[in-house]
Amino acid sequence: MITKVLDVSSEPINIDFIREASRILQKGGLVAFPTETVYGLGGDATDKEASRKIYQAKGRPSDNPLIVHIAKFQQLEAIAKDLPENAKKLADAFWPGPLTMVVNKNEVIPYETTGGLDTVAVRMPSHPVALALIEESGCMIAAPSANTSGRPSPTKADHVYEDLQGKIDCILDGGAVDIGLESTIVDLTEDVVTILRPGYINMEMLEKVVGQVKIDPGIVYNDKGTTSGAKPKAPGMRYKHYAPKGDLTIVKGQEANVISAINEMTARDMAAGKKVGIIATATTKDKYKEGNILVIGDRLDEKSIAHNLYDILRQFDELDVDIIYSESFATPNMGQAIMNRLLKAAGQKTIAV
Ligand code: AMP
Ligand code: MG
Repeated sequence: MITKVLDVSSEPINIDFIREASRILQKGGLVAFPTETVYGLGGDATDKEASRKIYQAKGRPSDNPLIVHIAKFQQLEAIAKDLPENAKKLADAFWPGPLTMVVNKNEVIPYETTGGLDTVAVRMPSHPVALALIEESGCMIAAPSANTSGRPSPTKADHVYEDLQGKIDCILDGGAVDIGLESTIVDLTEDVVTILRPGYINMEMLEKVVGQVKIDPGIVYNDKGTTSGAKPKAPGMRYKHYAPKGDLTIVKGQEANVISAINEMTARDMAAGKKVGIIATATTKDKYKEGNILVIGDRLDEKSIAHNLYDILRQFDELDVDIIYSESFATPNMGQAIMNRLLKAAGQKTIAV
């Protein structure tokens, strides 16, 4: 299969390309498209075969459900069973935007799309290309991140091409995405709204809308980096994810201590013949002495860190480093989401200095 790349990065969006991609979806094919979080790999959510193709193209375990992307609240009503009041409140506050809601499903969305679950995860993205594609195709679009399973999520069309060329029909290239981390997932099937995956929409923002909010105990890690013992409720959070090829360790502590520890470990590893990568910030980059130093962003602009994280991990794969050291980014608003992804990429490996 030849993967067609259509450029929809300039305004106004090229409607002919949106129509071409829509026809592919309507015929049961796969189209990767930009959203404000990461690129999604889309197929018609009501078409079992299309969902099977998504799992196959990604090499994704078939029990890891897909998020259904919609453009109107009525589409959520059409696929949910007993929609809770909080769904409307959260949609009014955060849709279109980076929030995914898990609700009980009716028969419209097949089990092939929900990994066999009786619940369905639904999101209304805000990216104009994503909305145009949903509207023009008339499809609700099942779309996980458009990466090969186990690789960092794609934040640029090039990342999608690297992973999926020859395996999908089309990529809509809308340039680099905005946020760069996957959506916040909340479970609405129990009395208290529960965060299953942290993202740009954080706990405080959710609490302002629905009152009490819990975090799934399965995704909370203690000081030793081990879980509470509970299994994460979102199947995707159970898999080792976002793993770079190099062995990643996060170093946390006061900045000066972190820098000297990373410098020491880098000198030691390089003396042993290893290729070392360092994830630095705009203000610390000149304080590292050797190794492949990449700047993730500016600590005072936490959005820049989220935005570049996956791209940096992919760059280290290309550089073929053996070992990666990263500073820690427990920033005020997105810190939980950033550290959730970074810790997973590191297999929870952290050194406190
Ligand atoms: P991705 O779009 O690649 O970030 O993957 C979708 C994420 O949503 C995975 O972590 C899934 O496990 C999660 N998810 C999708 N549907 C459900 C559901 N019905 N219940 C819980 N988690 C879900
Ligand atoms: Mg994913």
